[in-house]
Amino acid sequence: MTQTARPYLPFTRPSIDETTIAGVAEVLRSGWITSGPQVREFEAQLSAWCGGRPVRALNSGTAALEIGLALAGIGRGDEVITSPLTWVGTANVIVRAGARPVFVDIDPVTRNIDLARLEAAIGPATRMLLPVDLAGLPVERAALYAIARRHGLRVLEDAAQSFGASSGAVPIGAAGDLIAFSFHAAKNLTTAEGGCLVMNNAEEARQCELWRLQGVERFADGTLDATLPGGKSNMTDVAARLGIGQLARLPEFTARRRALARRYLQRFDRSLGCELPVADFTQSNWHMFQIVLPAGTDRGAFLRGMQAAGIGVGVHYPPVHLLTLYRNLGHAPGEFPIAERIGAGTVTLPLFPDMLDADVDRVCEAVTTVLRTP
Ligand SMILES: *Cc1c(COP(=O)(O)O)cnc(C)c1O
Repeated sequence: MTQTARPYLPFTRPSIDETTIAGVAEVLRSGWITSGPQVREFEAQLSAWCGGRPVRALNSGTAALEIGLALAGIGRGDEVITSPLTWVGTANVIVRAGARPVFVDIDPVTRNIDLARLEAAIGPATRMLLPVDLAGLPVERAALYAIARRHGLRVLEDAAQSFGASSGAVPIGAAGDLIAFSFHAAKNLTTAEGGCLVMNNAEEARQCELWRLQGVERFADGTLDATLPGGKSNMTDVAARLGIGQLARLPEFTARRRALARRYLQRFDRSLGCELPVADFTQSNWHMFQIVLPAGTDRGAFLRGMQAAGIGVGVHYPPVHLLTLYRNLGHAPGEFPIAERIGAGTVTLPLFPDMLDADVDRVCEAVTTVLRTP
């Protein structure tokens, strides 16, 4: 085989078909580009996906988390329990609400918050549990909600990565308390930027509408009132039309991601000593395929080696409690050893629906070559 340079393989890339692009163009020509009929249609379809529960579309997953906290009345003096191995946004929203994030170490196998340790972290100021489905592998909902019920706590699921996944046979979003999804460009379903919040009832949905648009309520006589200091986090019709095109293909996307993940687990050289993700092909939506490098591996060198081979890789995530903001709040290395060990060795390999089987083989070969090269 001749050594022709192979095209760069990014670690993720959205799949946007021509029908969706034409639909977005139609919205752009329609004269109505911000929140309108497309948002209402997208919300109706999301609600159907989520077992008929109320859903409101927003301009980010972060906004969905912020509004979820507001609906539960989380503020000063409250504690919210979450995972240290997540995107910093998960914890930032808690701090910005004036509450205190309480981290609980992760389970080394699932890499999600360890439910056995979680219960011990519940104290008199705990108001809410904010679990994260890292890489799209859901935290087990039955066990999670049993703990929440025992202690009378609200739950806000950071399901930013787990749209299309399920816990047991129940789709994420179709059960539970408050569920925040993200439609950021790197997520399994994208609206470029966007998100949504799944709620319990019509009153919460009405409050969410106020929080997402300046707290404003409009009346038939043309007047308006503002009753709470809402922000600006409504979704545009342009984004919603993109989301409608994506939602129609979500089952196909998820099936393809599962097939690619299965191939990774078949092809990956087990003698390298990397920790591989849980082989779950029924619940996880395989948002990411993450390996943990063997102890002592120079991750920087590994990342450079993969990039040099034309393969995009990522690090998701450095543990949140070790970032400056959280060190300034009193956190220090050694507090959550499992999250720290996995955070130090984790690497995200390419996984997206348009990838070819041969791309998986190429990545596996490159990992072997880079790790075997001294
Ligand atoms: C993407 C993500 C968010 C934030 O979503 P945005 O749409 O980028 O605001 C929050 N938490 C997790 C775990 C995420 O992956």
